[in-house]
This record gives sequence, structure tokens and C-alpha cells, in this order.
Amino acid sequence: MDDLFRFADELGPAKIIHIHEPSIGLRAVLVVDNVAAGPSIGGVRMAPDVSTEECFRLARAMTLKNAAAGLSHGGGKAVLYGDPKMPRADKERLVRGLACALRDVHEYIFGPDMGTDEECMAWVKDEIGRSVGLPCELGGIPLDKIGATGWGISHVADVALRYCDFPLAGARVVIQGFGAVGKHAARFLAAKGAILVAAADSRGTLYDPGGLDVALLSELKDTGKSVIDFPTGEKLDRDAVIDIDCDIWIPAARPDVIHEDNVSRLKTRLVIQGANIPFTQGAEKALHARGVLCVPDFIANAGGVICAAMEYQGASQAAAFETIAEKLRQNSEEVLERVSKNGMLPRDAAMALAVARVRKAMGYRRWGIF
Ligand code: NAD
Repeated sequence: MDDLFRFADELGPAKIIHIHEPSIGLRAVLVVDNVAAGPSIGGVRMAPDVSTEECFRLARAMTLKNAAAGLSHGGGKAVLYGDPKMPRADKERLVRGLACALRDVHEYIFGPDMGTDEECMAWVKDEIGRSVGLPCELGGIPLDKIGATGWGISHVADVALRYCDFPLAGARVVIQGFGAVGKHAARFLAAKGAILVAAADSRGTLYDPGGLDVALLSELKDTGKSVIDFPTGEKLDRDAVIDIDCDIWIPAARPDVIHEDNVSRLKTRLVIQGANIPFTQGAEKALHARGVLCVPDFIANAGGVICAAMEYQGASQAAAFETIAEKLRQNSEEVLERVSKNGMLPRDAAMALAVARVRKAMGYRRWGIF
């Protein structure tokens, strides 16, 4: 009994649902964390090594992110066990199966995450009519194609640099994970004069101290190749991306990539967290002690979910971009102002802002979290 409730605290989770359908090899977990502000929105992560704990932590991050962004949605997340690169027909069967299993869980609105995309969301919509991050033909705003999260990160960088002693123009940027978040963050930052000196994906790291051509590198990635297939630059192993000297380091891959044992290897002045929970708390504390500003995930990477929530309401792409810029600038300013005045850890300042908003929403509800 105790073990079942090991994640429980005053904010949630309201429900944890384990899904098992052996006839199609479907194994998945849904965590609906807190729906005080409205039905939860969160992505479906597909990977062979996901866990209930990771799902809970990601769901909580969505509760905080959606609250910080002032959305009328709570936080939830689903994880689907399997290799996202499995044959399309097998993947479609699993995603459709997951949607059917959760047909009646109206507190959860499906969204894309690592391993799932707009086509998966179209299958979910077809089965149960409740998903965001849809293809344009179904009224979706293609948030990964247009780079909604990367767009937000570029605005967060603008604000964060007011609290650092270097300009964005000429700043050396390193990005771990060159997918939907990483490559667009690179594009928008490069448009403001930043220089991408290294990028990593799951196969390796590409390094060029003279600066990489972001457009060409993104084109290469779009063909399914790795950054290490790029014709120029030095090719290093995957985790060498942690050691590269830079001004801005952006994690845009997996959780917990920086922890107590490797944080001392980071040589940067600013971290903007594109991925969800990419650093352990100990790592963030160590960076803070060294004077490295670290903008937490749920403040920095809310662009995608703001876009998704606006798509759900039928808003246009232009309106979504405008809202992302406005909300992320405002939130980063509020958090970093608290950090600079009180010397707080950025995550503590961000938590204080988000939790106060969740508690306020809970105060309007009879049952609080559901
Ligand atoms: P993606 O699948 O498009 O890209 C992930 C990239 O990370 C790929 O290039 C992959 O090769 C690389 N990668 C995986 N493991 C790696 C490792 N150990 N080292 C280096 N690179 C590695 O995923 P995405 O949509 O860009 O999401 C990335 C992260 O950002 C995830 O944590 C996701 O939850 C988070 N996030 C995404 C969005 C969004 O709008 N897509 C919004 C908020 C947060």
C-alpha cells in the first residue's frame, strides 16, 4: 500500500493507470497528476526504457509548467513501452490501443513527446477525438515543425542574458539533442547572432569551434542522419558534448543527463533547459554555487505546450507564437528577478511561482487535485 503511494504529496498524483494488453504487446502507464486548472495536457513518451517513476516526474513537471504558463490545463503524462522506430503498422496498433484503453479518462488530453509525433496524435484523434499536436490537415499547428519550444527558448535566452554579463550576439552555444527542440532552438538563437559550436544526438557529438551551419545541419538531421554524418567539424562521442567550453549549454534530449557525478565537467555560463528534468537537483545546486545561471525546464520549455493548448482552442500559429513569447518572457523575468533579489535557486523560485498558481486553482475546486 505504502509503495503504491510513494509519489503522493499535496499536489498529486490524482491517478496512476497501468495499461497491459498482451494480445498486441501494449504496456503503458498514464499519470494524471493534478487537474485543478482543467484537463491535463502532456505528451506520450515512447521508449524501451521508460518507467512509472519517470512518468510521474514528467507529469508533475507538466502540472508546474502548465500552471506557470497560466494555461487552463493540469499536468499529466503517458509512457508507452517500445522502440519508437518499430515498423509503422506495429506502432500504429500500440498507439491506437493506448488511446482506446484511455478512452474514458477525460482528464487526459494526449500530446506528442519523444518517440511520438503528429501522425500518432492523428491516430489518437481518430480513435477517441482527444489529442493535440495534430497534423495541419486536422486543424493542428505543427509545433515541432515550426519549433514552438525552440522559439520560446530563444526568448528565455534574451531575458536570461540581462542577468549574465555577456550578449547573445557571438555567444557560443552547445546543444545536447538535435531534435524538435534542439535544432529549432539553434535556429532561433543563430538568427540573433549566437554561434552553435557543438551539437549532439544519440549517436555522437559534432564540434566546430568556428561555428556550425545550423540550416545545413538541420537539413541533414531531417533526412534521418546523425550530426556525426555532417561533412565538416570534429566527431566526438555522445557524452563529449558535456565537456565543451561554451557560454550557453542547452540540454534537449533525456532526463537526468547531468547529475552530481558529471556536473563538474560543464564549462558554461548559462544553462537553458529545453528537455524535461534534464538535471538532478544536486547538479542544479552545484551550478548555482558556481554562479552558473540555470533556467529550469518548466519555465524555459513551455513553448510547445502553450502552442498545443492554443491549438486545442482553435488559435492560429501566429497567435500561438505571440503568446509563447509574451508568457515566457514574463515568467523568466519574474523567476530571475526573485533569483537575483533573494539569491534563491532558480528552481526554487520557479517552484514558488508555479505551486502558488496550482494551489490557487485547487482552492476553487471541491476536491482540490481532481
Ligand atoms: P526528439 O526526439 O525530436 O529529439 C531528441 C534528440 O535527442 C534526438 O536528436 C536524439 O538523437 C537526441 N538524444 C537522445 N538521447 C541522447 C543523449 N543521451 N545524448 C545526446 N542526444 C540524445 O525530441 P524533442 O521533441 O526534441 O524533445 C527533447 C526533450 O525536450 C525531451 O525531454 C522532451 O520531453 C522535451 N520537450 C519537448 C518539447 C517539444 O515541443 N517537442 C517541449 C518541451 C519539452
